[in-house]
Amino acid sequence: MNYKISSLPLALLVVALPPLASAQQQDFSKVEIKVSKVSGNIYMLEGQGGNIGASVGEDGIVIVDDEFAPLAEKIQAALKNLNITDKPVRFVINTHYHGDHTGGNPPFASSGSTVIAQDNVRKRLMSGGVAGNGGSIKMDVKPAEKAALPIITFEHDVTVHLNGEDIRALHFPAGHTDGDAIIFFPKNNVVHMGDDFVRYGFPFIDVASGGSVEGMTEGLEKAIAQLPADVKVIPGHGALSNLDDVRAYIKMLKETTEAVQKAIVAHKTLDQMKQEKILAPWAKWSGDFVNADTFIETLYNSLTGHPGQFVKHN
Ligand SMILES: [Zn+2]
Repeated sequence: MNYKISSLPLALLVVALPPLASAQQQDFSKVEIKVSKVSGNIYMLEGQGGNIGASVGEDGIVIVDDEFAPLAEKIQAALKNLNITDKPVRFVINTHYHGDHTGGNPPFASSGSTVIAQDNVRKRLMSGGVAGNGGSIKMDVKPAEKAALPIITFEHDVTVHLNGEDIRALHFPAGHTDGDAIIFFPKNNVVHMGDDFVRYGFPFIDVASGGSVEGMTEGLEKAIAQLPADVKVIPGHGALSNLDDVRAYIKMLKETTEAVQKAIVAHKTLDQMKQEKILAPWAKWSGDFVNADTFIETLYNSLTGHPGQFVKHN
């Protein structure tokens, strides 16, 4: 990791920390789970790590992503405190394999939940490897324990019929990773976009795990084409959003991709692109996790098909 968690003030920590940090690096004792009603019987839970979407109703509970293992009890308590159902979390759907979205799989599985994910989520959890942007964002991922593995996987899509809704997980290849799913709650008009759409500024695109900026852009465009104008959007990280927020993000992805593509065609090196600050017009997207320089690396590696020397193929 290129950012130093320990040296950051607390306020910054919240913004800077989550997307790739592993459970061992963090203290979860003070984390509180904030629950907000999104629409109908769909809730959003925020603690540490990726946002959780939850369908809570008479048939029980389905959650999308499960943050980190040490938070599982708090997440379960928060869901129970809604006083809607005594039934358990029956299904967990993972949007992708990163530990801040799947870390809770073992405790949820051991308390009876069935974990569902795209085929590549299981493969990458099993094998471990390296996550990163092919440049300065890099993290070794250890093979996950058996209890963390999704026991139902799908190639293209899967539907969970519960609480009167057809909850559909649809795979979009090569976006944030190569195992992304976007989860649709059509009756309640809500969508959980995983880390294909985030609110922390320039996104982390895990090119080392099969992600690509073009895939992310294309996937989001396909997803929003199927969504009603007033759909509520749960991002992978950050505040509840709407389609205008997603459109602004897609526009930034396209424009920054074009800027880096132009520089590649002009035979500029990665260092020259950084020195010339070619992403300066999009400076407001520069964040603590992914700043303009790391996003140039991301786009460069994604567009040139060079996910970095550390890449491990599987
Ligand atoms: Zn992620």
